[in-house]
Amino acid sequence: MKKLNIASIPGDGVGHEVVPSGEQVLKTIADIHGGLAFEFTSFPWSCNYYLEHGSMMPENGLDQLKPFDAIFLGAVGDLNLVPDHISLWGLLIKIRREFEQSINMRPAKLLKGVTSPLANPKDFDLLVVRENSEGEYSSIGGKIHQGEDEVAIQNAVFSRKATERAMRFAFELAGKRRQHVTSATKSNGIVYSMPFWDDVFKEVSTDYPSIQTDSQHIDALAAFFVTQPERFDVIVASNLFGDILTDVGAAIMGSIGIAPAANINVNGKYPSMFEPVHGSAPDIVGKGLANPIGQIWTAKMMLDHFGEIELGAKLLDVIEETTTAGIMTADIGGKHSTEEVTNEIIHRLKSL
Ligand code: ATP
Ligand code: MG
Repeated sequence: MKKLNIASIPGDGVGHEVVPSGEQVLKTIADIHGGLAFEFTSFPWSCNYYLEHGSMMPENGLDQLKPFDAIFLGAVGDLNLVPDHISLWGLLIKIRREFEQSINMRPAKLLKGVTSPLANPKDFDLLVVRENSEGEYSSIGGKIHQGEDEVAIQNAVFSRKATERAMRFAFELAGKRRQHVTSATKSNGIVYSMPFWDDVFKEVSTDYPSIQTDSQHIDALAAFFVTQPERFDVIVASNLFGDILTDVGAAIMGSIGIAPAANINVNGKYPSMFEPVHGSAPDIVGKGLANPIGQIWTAKMMLDHFGEIELGAKLLDVIEETTTAGIMTADIGGKHSTEEVTNEIIHRLKSL
């Protein structure tokens, strides 16, 4: 019996409505599989926890999370309760940093039955691997001079270690998919970091002779996400470029409510964290309107992470069967509730 201990953090807002959906689905899958079990331990860390205790998580919060196999998170942050810089840095970003979750992974795929904002979309199924620890989002820089001569300087940091780590991760994934990696670059405008990025990409690619590669400038690449997303398999990108591309990716899927994400600790020293792209959506809380597919697809990424590739594929099939049957929440044009969509997915899983 493979038993997986999962730390569950519903967090804020609709996190409390969709995390239970994801948990139920994972438990159903474990039952079907037989040799697999999920045990969830829930942590109440959130903005409400902050209002009561003065911090988003206890001082030993990270120590409490460390022994788990993975973290299953809903959404963190609710501007009506706590400013974002406190809620995000006190929980989400703290976990990402301290647990060295240096890769952010976000697929974008058009689900059957879901309408994309693109006019005539072909089937696309791409995966952005974003370097999540350095790059343009460094805290190195400063200001010089004042008044009309004032200058702000922001340094980007690209270490060989982190760059190579992200690229190897992308190549490994492409090997399990359609054997293609696209590098997001801008070496025609950014003259130190991006030529370095290109060099490392070339070096790493020689270790993966069976994987096709190409490099594209980020501006053109972002445009192609809209005009020809079907061209792409795996895309490897720096922190800033990946941030932008993954938002475009979520947009062309039809709703932020279906987009999944994973923050990966590559060496397995700490747990990785699985969270949907959407936030706490305070505007729809308590109405049964929250789309559970983002969280359930996130559960699929967790299955993949644990090597349960076949189960993950089955789950995604069932999600698509459900949307094809028109069982959907309002954000993607349906009229069903969170619970109805969840129950339909569970029902279909049980009758596999
Ligand atoms: P954050 O700062 O946490 O990213 P945000 O306000 O920028 O929060 P969301 O909380 O994701 O972003 O909400 C953006 C919009 O998407 C809102 O209108 C919200 O209702 C909608 N939305 C978010 N998640 C879902 C979901 N699971 N199902 C349906 N609609 C959603
Ligand atoms: Mg947001």
